[in-house]
Amino acid sequence: MVSQSAETIGAGAFDQLDPPDPELYLDCIHCGFCLPTCPTYLVLGNEMDSPRGRLYLIRTASEGKIGASDSFVKHMDLCLLCRACETACPSGVKFGFLMEAARGQIARRYQYPPAERRFRDFILHTFTDLGRLRTLTSLLRLYQRLGLQRLIRASGLLSFFGRLGQMEALLPEIAAPCLGELPEVTPAKGQRRGRVGLLLGCVQRFFFAHVNAATVRVLSENGYEVVVPRNQECCGSLLVHEGERERGKLLARRTIECFELANVDVIAVNAAGCGSVMKEYWELFQADPDYAKRAEAFSRKVRDVSELLAGLPLCGKLQPLNLTVTYHDAGHLVHGQKIRQEPRRLLNTIPGLRLVELRESDFCCGSAGIYNLLHPDVAQQLLDRKVERIRETGADVVLSGNPGCSLQIEKGLRERGLQIRVLHPVELLDWSYRGTER
Ligand code: SF4
Ligand code: SF4
Repeated sequence: MVSQSAETIGAGAFDQLDPPDPELYLDCIHCGFCLPTCPTYLVLGNEMDSPRGRLYLIRTASEGKIGASDSFVKHMDLCLLCRACETACPSGVKFGFLMEAARGQIARRYQYPPAERRFRDFILHTFTDLGRLRTLTSLLRLYQRLGLQRLIRASGLLSFFGRLGQMEALLPEIAAPCLGELPEVTPAKGQRRGRVGLLLGCVQRFFFAHVNAATVRVLSENGYEVVVPRNQECCGSLLVHEGERERGKLLARRTIECFELANVDVIAVNAAGCGSVMKEYWELFQADPDYAKRAEAFSRKVRDVSELLAGLPLCGKLQPLNLTVTYHDAGHLVHGQKIRQEPRRLLNTIPGLRLVELRESDFCCGSAGIYNLLHPDVAQQLLDRKVERIRETGADVVLSGNPGCSLQIEKGLRERGLQIRVLHPVELLDWSYRGTER
């Protein structure tokens, strides 16, 4: 939420450090094809909360016709950066780059009210700093182990804790040991296809460590030697999405250096938000003479795990899984990376598995990085719609290729008392290889 009392930036909304590129916003022909696909437009019903409206605001701000007022910042902040508008756009407008650049200007130049700033800083500093996240996760695990979570959730007290209560409601069961380390190198089975580096991610590493373990097993089964570089940190994607571009670049540089040292052919990612930004590091560094070429080479190597596996015939023997599943398209996978068919192709190779299509499968679930924490009301409306669509399928399992979506959807299913599991597609492949349903 943006307070109306926040200061405005003043005359020119943008300065010359990484401003939105006019060549990109001038591609918009105002046709409006993007409007019906935009979740915030559908929920809020306001042109300025649509892609076309936001592009108009970015353009007029770039031309110095408007300053970055509270209202301008609100419309920028209310964007999910789901990039559904890019898929719909016949002109190929690169909306994601424009919005990230606009937010970069806002993050540097706009004064959020102190409480809002502190909350944003807390979230961004915690979820992008592995040390802090490790400490937080250990404390949260203790909170679960001691039974406090059950008591607090049952008491209804969470509603009195505002945003902290909303964060708690997203918390999945933290499995032990959340800090367990994967081997630095896992050898390839059978005929060797290459050497893959795995990005562990932040949320994925601490809340879904089993997804990383499954990814390693499935890649190894498919002839990949899997390297998990020990010194990898956050890839910076959350910071880039929220406009904290300089801090995002710092982490991106470290990620590039870390995977260069690992000497891998391919970099596998199982978190859509991270993969999307890593594939676009080239854009982040295009004006940096020291990193432009390195970022380009790095981005060329990045593959979502479903993209990597669907590109070749699967090896090994898959056992039947007697499950009905449905698949949610994470925005940063389907719109950001144009990966729609690959996960479905992989799922269809599992014997016995019934894949039921989800209506509006590529409509945002409201997670969108930290959007559900910053704008819980809009996020909840999107989540309710997503959960209703999932319920309609009658599936036992809903699949998602992004940990943020998984947390959000799990929360929505829990709220409705629906016994539907949320998994990553690679987990099902792993189950099938191992002949188990858990
Ligand atoms: S990124 Fe998503 S929320 Fe933002 S304008 Fe595009 S479709 Fe709408
Ligand atoms: S679909 Fe593309 S060109 Fe048309 S209004 Fe939306 S962003 Fe502009």
